[in-house]
Amino acid sequence: MSDAIEGGCRCGQIRYRVAAEKLPSVYACHCRDCQTWSGSAFSLQFIVPEGQLAVTGEPAIYERTSPESGRTSRQRACPTCFTRVFNTNNARPGLAVVRAGTLDRSDELNIVAHIWTKRKVGGIVIPDDAPSWPESAPPADFAAALMRTY
Ligand SMILES: [Zn+2]
Ligand SMILES: [Zn+2]
Repeated sequence: MSDAIEGGCRCGQIRYRVAAEKLPSVYACHCRDCQTWSGSAFSLQFIVPEGQLAVTGEPAIYERTSPESGRTSRQRACPTCFTRVFNTNNARPGLAVVRAGTLDRSDELNIVAHIWTKRKVGGIVIPDDAPSWPESAPPADFAAALMRTY
């Protein structure tokens, strides 16, 4: 068993390695966009400085500017199997948001925070002690929640 923090797309063409000592804290976003994009109940993500994310393979890029916020996200996906792997956003320069389910060790993850819970799918129970917000979280509170260790 490797302690490396690595992941990749379903077919293996896009692989990445995170330069970190331990698995990142992950959060769930239950917003409609994340449900549509993942085809699932929520997206599972972690945030890492771009400099700590080493990607191999040539991802396809999908750029989308939100009509509401005017912010542009650049989504990186595998051009062969279409797994969406990570994105950057001009609102948060230097940071990558990685789809945590693409980690090889995803079964060792623990969700430390939930956002957009007002869009949550029925049957998903959020633990009472898990920080959660009905919509997006105030940045400082959210950062503090993600710093929690487990
Ligand atoms: Zn692939
Ligand atoms: Zn979302």
